[in-house]
Amino acid sequence: MATAPPLPDQHLEEMSAEELLRWAHSEYGEKLSLTCSWQKQSSVLVHMVSELGLDIPIVELDTHLFFRETYDTRDRLVERYGLSLLPPPPVITVAEQHRREGPNLWERDPDRCCHIRKVEPLLEALKPYDAWISGIRRDQSPSRATTPKVQWSERYGVWKIHPLVDWDEQKVWLYIHVNEIPFNPLHEGGYRSIGCMPCTRPVNPDEEERAGRWAGSDKLECGIHGDTPIIDAKERHA
Ligand code: SF4
Repeated sequence: MATAPPLPDQHLEEMSAEELLRWAHSEYGEKLSLTCSWQKQSSVLVHMVSELGLDIPIVELDTHLFFRETYDTRDRLVERYGLSLLPPPPVITVAEQHRREGPNLWERDPDRCCHIRKVEPLLEALKPYDAWISGIRRDQSPSRATTPKVQWSERYGVWKIHPLVDWDEQKVWLYIHVNEIPFNPLHEGGYRSIGCMPCTRPVNPDEEERAGRWAGSDKLECGIHGDTPIIDAKERHA
């Protein structure tokens, strides 16, 4: 099992999103990557990285079950910012999954489906890297409420960098609109959080942002962020 390397003594929690991205880039260089699933946080991070002039490889976590609007959003961001995405990590086709696991695995065992289509591909994709930028936010759900800005992931053997973790949804939208950044149009139809088609529904304004993910089940996370928070930067320097 990988062990956490030492972090430099930095006031990471006090850094702005831009400062944290600059710090991560100077610290990890070409060993730093950014994952995108083309929700609103991806729009913010792609724009911010571009504005800062940072060359950070982008990993697209495509489950082959995204909405058409999600792929269209990816294409608009690629065109606007001249992105060159890394080759997507290998994942079996949906048809092959039906053959191996039976039809509609997401209805019977969503944890296994997410493991096959998200966790395993991400494990492969992150192999060359020491640090991984993700767009999760503390106010998205109680399961993310205590997420630090920098966190060691035992599962992936990388530092997880969360530049937007202390942003709220309003701040995300303000940033997108002020900067006129392309965003996933499903957000305007009540899809405040967007994943795969079979497991995502719109939410009511009084529901949690991620209530439309695996609605009707007790599943809260797809597994890629379900890694137990083993240690965060603050604890490491306590
Ligand atoms: S979100 Fe649903 S369809 Fe997508 S990988 Fe997870 S269980 Fe499968």
